[in-house]
Amino acid sequence: MRTKNLKGMVRLSALAGLAASSLVLAQQAPDRGIVNVAGDLYRAHNNAHNTVFLVTSEGILVSDPINRDFAQWLRGELASMYDVPVRVVAYSHHHWDHASGGEVFADTAEVIGHETMPGALALPSADTPLSDDAAALDANGNGQIEESEASGNLAGQFALIDADGDGMLTGAEIARGPLSDVHPPSTVYSDTRTITLGGKSVELIHIASEHSPDMTVLRFPDEDALFFVDIISVRRLPFRTFPGVVDADGWIETVRSVEALDFSIAVGGHGDIGTKEDVADHREYIEALRDAVAAGIADGQSIEELQAGITMDEYSDWGSFNWLGENIAGMYRMLGGDN
Ligand SMILES: [Zn+2]
Repeated sequence: MRTKNLKGMVRLSALAGLAASSLVLAQQAPDRGIVNVAGDLYRAHNNAHNTVFLVTSEGILVSDPINRDFAQWLRGELASMYDVPVRVVAYSHHHWDHASGGEVFADTAEVIGHETMPGALALPSADTPLSDDAAALDANGNGQIEESEASGNLAGQFALIDADGDGMLTGAEIARGPLSDVHPPSTVYSDTRTITLGGKSVELIHIASEHSPDMTVLRFPDEDALFFVDIISVRRLPFRTFPGVVDADGWIETVRSVEALDFSIAVGGHGDIGTKEDVADHREYIEALRDAVAAGIADGQSIEELQAGITMDEYSDWGSFNWLGENIAGMYRMLGGDN
């Protein structure tokens, strides 16, 4: 890791005299790496996204592929380190920023997701109208968004949204989201599934979560470790305004159901590698935020007053602490604050 960073710095300084566009390209090269978690379990990262893989004598199990470029990089790294192929890809959930690119492993791997994942990937009905935001971009009024009309996320993720690759985004494609590079699972499971490979085992456990219906955590009994994504982060604030989550107490119950599992080492799809204590800390953060925002609402405070008054100082060394204002806004929304 240290060597790689050093090389990156040398490369950047060597580029300092070159055209600005080259420098931008160099700065955008993703930060990637692999660290051992415990035993045969490793964590690999692509910028702020983490996945895990387990190495056995008969093959490798990979959790989220994250995206196609990363998956190709990881496949190359694994091929250079081990003489067994990837035999299993096990998704945490279907969201594009964790689940894209699984096709890279599909020639050798069984691809496994929760039984609700295929439905979550399905296109809604073809007559789904453009959302209001998209309709505002439809300059020629043909009911679809061409690349020349797209802006914002629709432009940045055009190919991932364009499920049939015809160069136009329909209302149904936009409603589904940027999922076109998420390889559908070849097998699904319902409550739990134990995978055995090369004498090792991995448990897939479905967790009820508003974040995503197909949420799965992976338990590695030999390593005493658990991998979870998006419902909990280790020593990092939860994401912005908690999109998709509407019930604070339900979210806390989700975290408690993870705490009830048997593990010591906690690995998140975001944030650090930690312990079960860190999972409890994350729940206590959500509870403290809920209580502080509820007290402010009962006091008649506005969202701005809450953002000015709630400091959550004891968490100031956590990652993404600058999301606190958005966290307060998300909690305010969940607790029924009225602006
Ligand atoms: Zn997600």
